Amino acid sequence: MKRIFGVIGLGRFGFHVAKTLAEGGAEVIAVDRDEEKVKKAGEFITRAYIGDALDEKALEEAGIFNADTVVLSIGENVEASILVAVLLIERGVRDIVAKAVNPLHGEVLRRLGVRRVVFPEMEMAVRVAKSLLITGMIEEIPFAPGHSIYEIEAPRRIAGKTLRELDLRNRYGINVLAIKREGKVIPNPSADDRINAGDVLLVLGSEESIHRLTG
Ligand code: ATP
Repeated sequence: MKRIFGVIGLGRFGFHVAKTLAEGGAEVIAVDRDEEKVKKAGEFITRAYIGDALDEKALEEAGIFNADTVVLSIGENVEASILVAVLLIERGVRDIVAKAVNPLHGEVLRRLGVRRVVFPEMEMAVRVAKSLLITGMIEEIPFAPGHSIYEIEAPRRIAGKTLRELDLRNRYGINVLAIKREGKVIPNPSADDRINAGDVLLVLGSEESIHRLTG
């Protein structure tokens, strides 16, 4: 059965969440009080309703309380965001992901029982800045504090050597998980696999080790 997602608030964040979920094949119900935004989202999601999220009946009619997951993307109006979170929890929605605009807002949402709180602008800013600090970094997937999986362009000075010769594990504490070359992926490369110029690497390591490798 298809998972049902509710999206409350169709600002830039809510809109793109709803669109991506719908493109991924999910059933998406959205509510916003702004008619224009509802119209725009209605072109690609299952159901879009004009309504005030503080109106319990409006959410009921939209079917929000039956959603498996609700994305609460009202941000600027912190009071409305918190009141709607309370309403969702009282009406039995177990899985809520909410956008917050400041740490206190996030803390209140978490204490209410929101499973995941996101700070879209701050999180994106950190990601962009980190990608600028590490030469050739394409993507970072944080794994644990200080450790990440990185997608990086292979540094030029390691090109032409095998993984055995490079000995990245002992020298840097870095594990190469996969090599991407001309669109093809070599997963779990062996010691005899060679890094070529232009390769993209998926590696696991500490922030410090990745700086040493790419710096
Ligand atoms: P974003 O940064 O995601 O673009 P925003 O800054 O434009 O968001 P927000 O205040 O976070 O604006 O509101 C997001 C959306 O939520 C807007 O489309 C707004 O119409 C809608 N919204 C705000 N309050 C309510 C409410 N009480 N009921 C329904 N929709 C609401």
